[in-house]
Order: sequence, then structure tokens, then C-alpha cells
Amino acid sequence: AKNRGRDRWDTVDTGLRKAASERLDLESQLRTAISDGELELHFQPIVGLTGRRVIGREALVRWRHPQKGLMPPITFLPIAEESGLIVELGAWVLRAAVRAAAASLDPGYVAVNVSPNQMIRPGFSAQVETVLAESGLPAGQLVLELTESVMLSAAPAARLEIDRLHRLGVRIVVDDFGTGFSALSYLRDLPVSGIKVDRSFTAGLGDDPQCDRIVEALIGLGHGLGIDVIVEGVETERQSDLLVGIGVQHAQGYLFGKPSPQYELQNA
Ligand code: C2E
Ligand code: CA
Ligand code: CA
Ligand code: CA
Repeated sequence: AKNRGRDRWDTVDTGLRKAASERLDLESQLRTAISDGELELHFQPIVGLTGRRVIGREALVRWRHPQKGLMPPITFLPIAEESGLIVELGAWVLRAAVRAAAASLDPGYVAVNVSPNQMIRPGFSAQVETVLAESGLPAGQLVLELTESVMLSAAPAARLEIDRLHRLGVRIVVDDFGTGFSALSYLRDLPVSGIKVDRSFTAGLGDDPQCDRIVEALIGLGHGLGIDVIVEGVETERQSDLLVGIGVQHAQGYLFGKPSPQYELQNA
């Protein structure tokens, strides 16, 4: 029995080793993926709920891995964050997204996800300014999505960057709103133009009264502050109807369009 136990631990050990070495492989592959042109952006429409006109598009990064195929961000963003590659990756995403928007005649905005590690680097707003100037995209057509954690932790340096971006005319929205609920003072202190209600809340709409109340409260808060409210993850007509009923104007989700490699995807 003792021997069997040891065998089992050997197996666990081998498994861990394998996982660690795969992670290292992926990290070194990601290092070259950017320069090798293996990253791509998909764009998902953000619509007005009544009329379903596209008002903007969120850029979502994917990695076209030569062996593994199209990889979703969950498989490589954590590695990018831990290794610091997120800074370079984020800069690539920003430039590619802004270029795509500038190349289109559509006046809608492009929304770009920004990692905390990008934000805290001095010079982020200068980078944004350069990318806008290079492409000719008006600052008003760029939205940056920052998570609640960034807003909460917002070190003085990050606050300065946020203020500079705001002065450039770039809008800031709070992503995954409601998931990190612990303090809301940043809504008062920082120039936030909108909140995106996380899709974990949308999923229970109409089935779970608690969920309905929370969504109503989040939306009421946003509207009370006079900022834009976008609800993520709308998949059904029923959810859409319920949201219209509580006064939501803007939404995103598979019901209106899935992320697509084409910037201008026809409405779903
Ligand atoms: P997120 O910012 O909350 O983006 C929305 C995610 O929900 C996307 O997943 C999108 O494809 C998915 N989604 C949209 N509508 C629906 C729906 O109706 N139902 C369901 N089930 N899902 C929906 P994706 O593309 O896998 O991205 C996951 C996360 O990765 C994003 O969550 C964002 O946090 C992060 N991410 C994506 N691209 C970037 C990037 O360029 N930079 C950074 N820093 N993060 C990114
Ligand atoms: Ca344009
Ligand atoms: Ca987002
Ligand atoms: Ca989300």
C-alpha cells in the first residue's frame, strides 16, 4: 500500500511538472506571438436596446496558435499578466483596435479592455494620445474599459493617467461592474462615463428575483449618477425585454451579435 501511495504522488508530481512546463512553453510562444502576427481582434457590437442600432464595438483579443488553433483570452491572458507580457500585448491591442475603427466609416466607438498592469505604467495616456494621432481616430470614438479593481486601487499615478485620458476626450467605463462591489467612492472621484453590468447578473434575469433586484439597483445607481449603463451577456429576447422594462438603454450579448473578426458585422 505504501508503494502504491508513492506511485500516486509520483503521478501527481509528473502531472504538475508537465503543467508547469506547458505553461513555460506557452509563455515563450506568447512572447513571439505578438511579433509573428498571431494575435487577432474580434469585435462584438454594443447596441441601443430599442432599435438595436450599433453604437460601439468591443475589441476582444484572440491568439491564433499555430498548433492549438484559435485560443480565447482566458487561456493566455493570465500568463500574459504574470509574465508582464500584458504591457506589450495591451499596446498591440490598443493600436490594432484604434486602427480598425479609424479605417471604418462607422461613427460608433471602439471599446478596448485595459489591464491594471498597463494602467499603472507611467506614459499610458501618452501612448493613447500617440495611437490616436497616428490613426486619426477622434478621441471621442475611443472607450477604455477598466475593471473595478483598478478604479478602487487607483494609485495616485493611475488617477493622474485617468484624468489625462479624460481631458483628451477618451471615455472610461467600469467593466464587470457589480462583481467587485466593496466601495463606490471612485464613482465620485474619477471621471467615469459609464458602467458595464457583468453578465453573471444578466444570466439570472427573470428567473431569480434576487438577481432582478440587484440588476435594478445597479442600473438605478448608474442612472442616478447620470452615467451610461451597458448590460453585458444578453442572450435572449426575454432578457432584452426585461431590461427595456427597467429602462436600460445599452447592451451587448450574443442576441445582438457574437464577436467577429470583421469590424463591421451586420446586426444579428
Ligand atoms: P469581458 O471584458 O467581460 O468581455 C465580455 C466577454 O463575454 C467576452 O469573452 C465575450 O465574448 C463574452 N460574451 C459576450 N456576450 C456574451 C453572451 O451573450 N453570452 C456569453 N456567455 N458570453 C458573452 P472573451 O472574448 O472570451 O473575453 C473574456 C475576457 O477576457 C474579457 O471579459 C476581458 O476581461 C478579457 N479580455 C478580452 N480581450 C482583452 C484585451 O484585449 N485586453 C485585456 N486586458 N483583457 C481582454
Ligand atoms: Ca472612422
Ligand atoms: Ca470588457
Ligand atoms: Ca464581464
